[in-house]
Amino acid sequence: MKAAPCYRGRFAPSPSGPLHFGSAVAAIGSYLQARSAGGEWLLRMEDLDQGRTVAGAGDTILGGLESLGLYWDGPVLYQSARMAVYEEALQQLVDSGQAYPCGCTRKEVAGRPYPGTCRHGLPPGRNGRSLRLRTEGARYQIQDRIQGIELQMLEESVGDFIIRRGDGIPAYHLAVVVDDAFQGITEIVRGSDLLESTACHIHLQHALDYPLPAYAHLPVVTNTAGIKLSKQTGARAIDEIAPKDTWLRALSFLGQELPPPGEAVETIRDWAIAHWKLERVPRILSAC
Ligand code: GLU
Repeated sequence: MKAAPCYRGRFAPSPSGPLHFGSAVAAIGSYLQARSAGGEWLLRMEDLDQGRTVAGAGDTILGGLESLGLYWDGPVLYQSARMAVYEEALQQLVDSGQAYPCGCTRKEVAGRPYPGTCRHGLPPGRNGRSLRLRTEGARYQIQDRIQGIELQMLEESVGDFIIRRGDGIPAYHLAVVVDDAFQGITEIVRGSDLLESTACHIHLQHALDYPLPAYAHLPVVTNTAGIKLSKQTGARAIDEIAPKDTWLRALSFLGQELPPPGEAVETIRDWAIAHWKLERVPRILSAC
């Protein structure tokens, strides 16, 4: 039997549009961190939110990754095929008294933290809409390998948070944590826009008795107005005809040494694996 690798990383795009430079940076950063450790790199499509999922975008993202020579291990995991697994985890949290039904509408609890309206039972005349996870006393010191140490006061800043939405869809926080444990991810390398979510994830890992992965949050690519490049803000797809340009821009964005000019994509990729240094990745958000 083949021994399990000591390092397993992943890239987990939401298929709401093609791979753009910002998501390519997250893919390349997580890929290089995994491969330079001799580890595996898994792929997961976060396609739970049908409102945001764009038909065909998942395949376009896979094509974009292949154009960059980024090949993943094993089959792609599609979250939309895993509803029963999320329901099981949700039930476990309800049965253990850690989660409770909430009857508040989004409008009623706009802003943060959640005031705890349904924490001690649904108010009379209210039906449960969503499920929330209790956060009493939850504070976590996150040791991020790029961003440093950060203390997140979960109860004070976020409060009991939603793990199943009012429309019945498992929340992003729940699905990501269940899947990272299922896929055996040992280190999560992703954009620093998700640093804020990390305390929710660690809290869920404790609640579900899962192993705790390490974290490294990459700087996010912004447009000239300082807004994160995203499919929502209309970021352009990477040019699959010029993958070398994307590699060179991404490596320089990530503070890495650049390979000698004129090489093929696969050679750039292998060179980048051999020369990858996490400690060179800048902490701060910077424009592209
Ligand atoms: N699906 C998320 C996104 O595309 C990333 C989730 C994660 O890496 O934890 O922003």
